[in-house]
Amino acid sequence: METVRVRFAPSPTGELHIGGLRTALFNYLYARRHGGVFILRIEDTDRTRYVPEAELRLMEMLKWAGIAPDEGPQVGGPHGPYHQSERLPMYRQAAEELMAKGLAYPCYCSSETLDQMRQQQQARGMPTRYDGRCRKLTPDDRKRLDDKGLTPVVRMVLPDREERMVVKDLIRGNVAFNTSQLDDQVLLKSDGFPTYHLAVVVDDHAMEITHVLRAEEWLPSTPKHLLLYRYLGWEPPQYAHLPLLLNDDRSKMSKRKGDVSVEAYQAKGYLPEALVNFIALLGWSPGDDREVFTLEELVQEFSIERINKTGAVFNRDKLDWMNQQYMSRLPVERLVALARPFFPDLSVLERNHDLVVRAAGVVQPSLVTLADLPSQLELFLKDPQAPLAPEVDQTLAKDEVRRLAGSMATHLGAVNPWGAKGFQEAMKTVQKETGLKGRDLWIPARMVITRAGEGPELPLVVEALGRDLTLERIRQAAQG
Ligand code: GLU
Repeated sequence: METVRVRFAPSPTGELHIGGLRTALFNYLYARRHGGVFILRIEDTDRTRYVPEAELRLMEMLKWAGIAPDEGPQVGGPHGPYHQSERLPMYRQAAEELMAKGLAYPCYCSSETLDQMRQQQQARGMPTRYDGRCRKLTPDDRKRLDDKGLTPVVRMVLPDREERMVVKDLIRGNVAFNTSQLDDQVLLKSDGFPTYHLAVVVDDHAMEITHVLRAEEWLPSTPKHLLLYRYLGWEPPQYAHLPLLLNDDRSKMSKRKGDVSVEAYQAKGYLPEALVNFIALLGWSPGDDREVFTLEELVQEFSIERINKTGAVFNRDKLDWMNQQYMSRLPVERLVALARPFFPDLSVLERNHDLVVRAAGVVQPSLVTLADLPSQLELFLKDPQAPLAPEVDQTLAKDEVRRLAGSMATHLGAVNPWGAKGFQEAMKTVQKETGLKGRDLWIPARMVITRAGEGPELPLVVEALGRDLTLERIRQAAQG
């Protein structure tokens, strides 16, 4: 059986979109599942939309997500170069071959002519498309125009007679198009760069791509690609068009409704494993209700048959839930290390490393993203001189609370070994001594220790804070 060869073929025009990562991931999973090769090809032929740093950032994002390519610009490979801008002679050769066969022709129409054509067609209520006038040029006409210094584009010829074209899509089944819906597509632009349509066909063929898994928006272009394969006498790959990504309200996923770039989710403190797991479920399901998968497990489970036709809703609450699953499973030292970029002041982290690790263990179950860690640790790292919230200030000013703090100082001072259990035992004695119960005991006791009205379970906080820090805070409250 032939080796599966799939590609992710982004255009470096900006940040990697979540949808782009999904395409890359599905290609990666398919390649791994079948012992195949995952290729990265940079489709940089649209010079007007080219963003130089986009490509590097895109490769960093793939690496971050754990789905680095087997062949591509950085790793190389036997089918390079992997930038379309470095493959121009191949596209020209294909265009020339098509022209020699009479299946493509040079078109000299200026943008003004094309605008006029469009306007006239619109005015007559006709579909707007190139009317094919340059098809009729004789070799002499062409020579005359060339001599004038005009550089033509190359357009493809559509079959003379209207034809039904069927895209056999692995997800959607047979999708029929009529060639009358198509246009004499430009294949080569006057700057010598190919359009997407020519380049994608030439490269998928040259790179021996067996399966094209790409976004649904490319489905209407596929008949043009199939025609080009036929014209060039090549075998087309198999196609699978991935369902659209939608917002909660089922509109097309857009920036208006929240972040759409992978970098934005990285910057917000989502873990790559969680994002990848979440994205894998956008349009694919394992066939049962399991949801948490490692990349390795996804490779084992993935199949094109289980990709849906209908749009996949990008549910941000579910992503939060997924991230929380992964956050709560991280070894605590690793959690702290990963959260480093989110600390406004790293020296706090360095001075209190052990305390930070213990405290991170306490707050871990309530973290949604890495970015939540610094604020949740404030409780543990608070500057004793920092101003207090008014309700905390008022509570700590009460005589009754000072007495409570005095009793806590005595009985907690005797706890040995230090820990949640010892704290709870000692607090029973405090309760007896002060006569305070329930909320009247626990809310002020919490404020005495944490200077806040709420937070994680107090015994766990106390254990993580350690004896010295806890007693220091209590004594300070006792003295008022
Ligand atoms: N360069 C196209 C894009 O940016 C690739 C489409 C394809 O995979 O054929 O989406």
